[in-house]
Amino acid sequence: METIQQWINGAEYAGVPDKIAPVENPATGKVEAQVHLASREDLDYAVKVAQEAQRKWAKVSLAKRTEIMFKMRQLVLDHQDEIAKSIVAEHGKDYSDALGEIQRGRETLDFACGISAVLKGEYSFDVSRGVDVHSLRQPVGVVAGICPFNFPVMVPMWMHPIAIATGNAFILKPATTTPSASLIIAKLYKEAGLPDGVFNVVSGSRDRVTDILKHPGIDAISFVGSTPVAHIVQDTATAHGKRVHALGGANNHAIVLPDADLDFAAKHIAAAAFGAAGERCMALPAVVAVGDIADELAQKVAAAGREIKVGYGLDEGVQMGPVITASAKKRIVSLIDDAEARGAKVVLDGRNIVVPGYEDGFFVGPTVVTGVDLEADLYREEIFGPVLTITKASSYEEAIALVNAQPFGNGSAIFTNDGGMARRFQLDVEAGMVGVNVPIPTPVAYYSFGGWKGSLLGDTHIHGPEGVRFYTRAKVVTSRWPSEESYEATMSFQRED
Ligand code: NAD
Repeated sequence: METIQQWINGAEYAGVPDKIAPVENPATGKVEAQVHLASREDLDYAVKVAQEAQRKWAKVSLAKRTEIMFKMRQLVLDHQDEIAKSIVAEHGKDYSDALGEIQRGRETLDFACGISAVLKGEYSFDVSRGVDVHSLRQPVGVVAGICPFNFPVMVPMWMHPIAIATGNAFILKPATTTPSASLIIAKLYKEAGLPDGVFNVVSGSRDRVTDILKHPGIDAISFVGSTPVAHIVQDTATAHGKRVHALGGANNHAIVLPDADLDFAAKHIAAAAFGAAGERCMALPAVVAVGDIADELAQKVAAAGREIKVGYGLDEGVQMGPVITASAKKRIVSLIDDAEARGAKVVLDGRNIVVPGYEDGFFVGPTVVTGVDLEADLYREEIFGPVLTITKASSYEEAIALVNAQPFGNGSAIFTNDGGMARRFQLDVEAGMVGVNVPIPTPVAYYSFGGWKGSLLGDTHIHGPEGVRFYTRAKVVTSRWPSEESYEATMSFQRED
């Protein structure tokens, strides 16, 4: 059985593993690999190596850093088949979705290739006679990225290309369920010419995360995961003097107005609710249908859901895979059971799906539920499964009140043909990313990604311009050059001040 190691100082590193964790293939339900979880000593070694490498890396010219990013971008493209297959084997999403994830991640590499354009400072000439002021941004030092299972490539790539291009060293802590892709990325960075120690991978569970959050050698933390853990990360890391942004969970809602094209809306809502088996922070688990369109919309979404081929992500034609673990499946099914017991109608039922040849896989089929009790956990919690609830509202005002009552605020969308209503929604909705007839409004990488409320703790979003700000510290330099010629000007500056 394959054993996935750490990656420290430009090589695989076995170290003194704390534990070994099994890595399941969620489609077969079988353990197909194992991962070494780093010990405290392994982490200390990675931090030491990263600190030393960072001091040198920060002095490498922007031209050279950019050249490495360009090479890395091409290598990721060349190796995307291998990377996608590793994602399918550990996460379960279908192959084309895995390729899509890599493409969205690569967009941040594209952005990092142009880092010199966004790292430019400002310059003010002669603010007083003979005195100039300029600003620059310098790396923060060693950055750790703590990542969730659901995007083993894209989410870390929201972080490391920008952190590295701006002159930091990076320690990636992937989820223990989906560790392999990070090792492939590490090897590609080495091939691209990145100096050893600038990019490291340290696997581990909550103890190691706690060590990372408190480690004096780590300067900044990028976290993406669930909201309860985001709170732990934010509280612990800030108490230890670190810069933090912690992206949390979601319960994204879309509003469908009566004037919307229902066929268009149903098709896109089905893709947003069931794609990647609903295991996306930008998935759409809840729709609020205004007026009397809810039942017709539910039938149309259910019809689209029935067409989705569920199975092993590498098999021909498969469009949706399993959820991540047996316990995730059990939880999702019990949330549906509970909502049904409270009076909800299960219009499309994925609870008992069996995929021939994969009877032990953790599959849940596309599910559509109407008339859900708003106090039911199926509506209140983040489901993270292929389940959509459709709730009726009598007016836009009632619908937006439901959306804004959510403790999360990641993404939200409206389906309408009325530009005025869409414009109003953009301002009314309490969410960081808004879609107009676009149910998954994930921004392109040259904008930043982030939610509001429980979906993001800390004030900077991730990637794009806010990513650059997060991974760098501002400095302002005031200078003068005394000489015979400029002496008079210099002295007059002092007198004026
Ligand atoms: P998770 O919070 O369980 O784990 C995230 C990371 O934190 C993992 O590396 C894990 O090892 C570590 N961790 C888990 N429990 C911990 C603890 N008690 N103390 C310290 N570290 C701990 O999340 P997950 O189940 O891997 O991923 C799914 C969640 O991530 C969902 O809530 C989803 O919405 C969220 N997510 C959010 C975004 C976003 O951009 N907002 C993107 C992707 C996923």
